[in-house]
Amino acid sequence: MTEDQPIPDNPVLPRTFDGAKEIRFQCRKGIACWNACCSNIDISLTPYDILRLKQRFGIGSGEFLQKHTVPYEIERDGIAGVKLRPVEKGTACQFMTAEGCSVYEDRPTACRYYPVALLSLRRQDESTDRNSYALVKEAHCLGHNEPRPITVDDYRKEQGLVEYDALARGWRQLILKKKSSGPSIGKPSVRSRQLFFMACYDIDRFRQFVASDGFNDLYDLPPETLQKILGEDTELMLFGFRFLMQVLFGDESIPMRKEAAEQRRQRHREKSQRMEREAAARRAAEQDGMYENVDE
Ligand code: SF4
Ligand code: SF4
Repeated sequence: MTEDQPIPDNPVLPRTFDGAKEIRFQCRKGIACWNACCSNIDISLTPYDILRLKQRFGIGSGEFLQKHTVPYEIERDGIAGVKLRPVEKGTACQFMTAEGCSVYEDRPTACRYYPVALLSLRRQDESTDRNSYALVKEAHCLGHNEPRPITVDDYRKEQGLVEYDALARGWRQLILKKKSSGPSIGKPSVRSRQLFFMACYDIDRFRQFVASDGFNDLYDLPPETLQKILGEDTELMLFGFRFLMQVLFGDESIPMRKEAAEQRRQRHREKSQRMEREAAARRAAEQDGMYENVDE
């Protein structure tokens, strides 16, 4: 245990900082620890990571998810996430080769950030998120001994993270909104979890959904907007974030057909009222339980 690393075995240093902070780090071919970081992976993927990788392989999102990822929950019973699947019966990344990363130009956000950790936070009384950073120091990574100073902002630019972060912002906001909405919102329904998974990660299935009659009976998108969304993966992904903000949190930005919109608002009102009643009932039951324990 050291002053910098007060929690044994936790490589994330506790001090957080902003992008102006200068760190000392360089990863370069020929370094003695080459590939050590890719030999034991735990890499969460953003929707844009998936989009870039499935485009690289020229396959659909469904096939990419099946072959190269494993699902997990970002929050227990709450938000679906996806991680890179390691090699069969091992811990190394499927894309690691002796030469290094075989998908380097399209490597995921987490690989680009390492050894910096991005911490996106939103306080309950704030409407926007704020980013801060921390340093991850693992004994096997010798890049920290290299004599290269660089600010976190410059490191992010060097690693192509300005684009990656901009395109993942809507997804991070959805997660922060869910986290900051607290337990009274309760566990999302199976349907909303499926929608989240499809719109964020299975983009080709989401395209079919947006092109369907059912979707267009409900939403009133101008034909040129629909064409643009359906024709370009990135546009479709960004639209998916707006769609989820609307469906999950009632932030209406996508025009709906009048009658359908009123029916949906009514359903949303009824759902909110039901959840508030259930939360109140839970709180009352918890209080009763506390009194019973005191009486015993
Ligand atoms: S995607 Fe590339 S950089 Fe990331 S863990 Fe795999 S081999 Fe390493
Ligand atoms: S310096 Fe760190 S990031 Fe680079 S190969 Fe070694 S362990 Fe991986």
